[in-house]
Amino acid sequence: MNLSQLIRDVEDYPKPGILFRDITPLLANGEAMREVTRAFADYAVAMKAEAIAGIEARGFIFAPAVAAQLGLPFIPVRKEGKLPYECVTHSYDLEYGSDTLQIHTDALHEGQRVVIVDDLIATGGTAGATVELVRKLKAIPAGAIFLIELDGLGGRDELEGRGVRVDALLRYEE
Ligand code: AMP
Repeated sequence: MNLSQLIRDVEDYPKPGILFRDITPLLANGEAMREVTRAFADYAVAMKAEAIAGIEARGFIFAPAVAAQLGLPFIPVRKEGKLPYECVTHSYDLEYGSDTLQIHTDALHEGQRVVIVDDLIATGGTAGATVELVRKLKAIPAGAIFLIELDGLGGRDELEGRGVRVDALLRYEE
């Protein structure tokens, strides 16, 4: 199946100059979703994952399906202030300003192998912050998998520089 046909390019969203990769046509195609979920699950098995961490918001579409398929815990990584219990926190720089992600302190345990899932990697800031959160809990970021990798924005280097393997099902020029 040609998954890239199911990614819609939307110009100037959410602001002028951004080419947004809209995954909703893919979400609307059950067969494509099954293929993506299976590919992510195969990857998680190969990485010997013991938990699947999904990043708010679009990582939440894929990660729970992968975790359920493998019978593994799904761990939500959320924007600051959204998780109700005690959290560890990591902030990272954006083009303008900064953003903060959190994970529950009891979400992972020491030495647990975690595969990180999100829809897309651009600069790698979001996934890099997730790697730091996993490490703050002494767990092991065993790999990161994305539906889409935007080349030329440094995301791969950002994660590989932190010693984390990166894989993506589709790659686009920025
Ligand atoms: P980054 O932290 O720069 O790697 O950005 C990754 C996050 O931003 C992901 O959660 C994506 O959902 C979102 N994102 C960044 N750029 C785009 C884009 N061009 N199209 C769609 N989503 C994007």
